Amino acid sequence: MKITEVKTYDLNYPLAEPFANSRVWCKARTAGVVEIITDAGVTGWGEGLTTPNRQEIDAHIIGRDPLDAAVIWNDLYAQGWGDIAAISAVDIALWDIAGKVRDMPVYRLLGGAFRHRIPAYASGLFMRNRPDNTGALADEARAYADAGFPAVKMKIGHGEDYDVESVAAVREAIGDDLLFAVDANCGYDVGTAIDVGRKIADSDIYWYEEPIEIENVSGYAEIRRALGMRIAGGEMLRGHRAFRNLIQGRGIDIVQPDISVAGGFTECRKVQAMASANGVRVLPHMWGTSIRLAATLHWQATIPDDPESLHPQPSLFEFDMTENALRTELALEPLRAVDGEVEVPQGPGLGIEIDRDLLERYSS
Ligand code: CA
Repeated sequence: MKITEVKTYDLNYPLAEPFANSRVWCKARTAGVVEIITDAGVTGWGEGLTTPNRQEIDAHIIGRDPLDAAVIWNDLYAQGWGDIAAISAVDIALWDIAGKVRDMPVYRLLGGAFRHRIPAYASGLFMRNRPDNTGALADEARAYADAGFPAVKMKIGHGEDYDVESVAAVREAIGDDLLFAVDANCGYDVGTAIDVGRKIADSDIYWYEEPIEIENVSGYAEIRRALGMRIAGGEMLRGHRAFRNLIQGRGIDIVQPDISVAGGFTECRKVQAMASANGVRVLPHMWGTSIRLAATLHWQATIPDDPESLHPQPSLFEFDMTENALRTELALEPLRAVDGEVEVPQGPGLGIEIDRDLLERYSS
């Protein structure tokens, strides 16, 4: 079997209402999608934060055997493809092909699923330009609790006053039983991160995500020691070596590789092994189209419970609740959270069919 053609799609979905994390206002959702076509009549889909460029595809991918995913990964990297996010898209598409060729879901190729339904956390609660932002956050959080999510995550990093007031409002809205994570998107320095952490601690925070720049590994360790709170991060790191210091630095409890940023299935499994050896839990980051959603489900299904006991911490799936037709409509049969759980697709490969009309509509 050989790869005969690769198509790339730069997707852009403009938002009806922009929202902000601590660093940027998000006005559109974007993704790089690749479609890899083979001479066996099998086509694979992958997504990266970026798309590979045409010349590199023609020179290094066309004519290769698609079942050589790990070999192709290393070749692309060695060829100077510094953009691991684009390699991620290729790798995911090759695993989709491998599953379709063998007529089995990707999670089975990876050794089988520890769970077929994954409990999800509602990831949203961004800052928006509204007259009563705190009230709107409480309403949004209440809706997630009512929908049956066992956990929610909100954005902080907008200043101590904002964080303290809105975290308290969201905790009050969801009640005492739901797990509650906060995410500062690397928006603070060490001192502010510790101050904020102390002030919101009585809202029973399950994890504190990316309080500071991810490269500041000793800063993470300082925050973790000062707060005694679970610390999480790593969604923008690319390639398993980029995770090494963070995972070994005793600064995080939960590492969050993104399959479309870190390097696809091939690379994320290496990160997972390194995390396991260092006592760090893996909860993948997910922020993308139906393709990344499906790929993340397959990977997360294969990650063992942590700790491997009768009473593990929950393997929580990041379910993005914001407006994005690329996530809700790109797969002909959408992947949904029902009663706070998401079902792992059971079809061959990634287990999704792509809506080509939607793909063309949002291709730039
Ligand atoms: Ca995050």
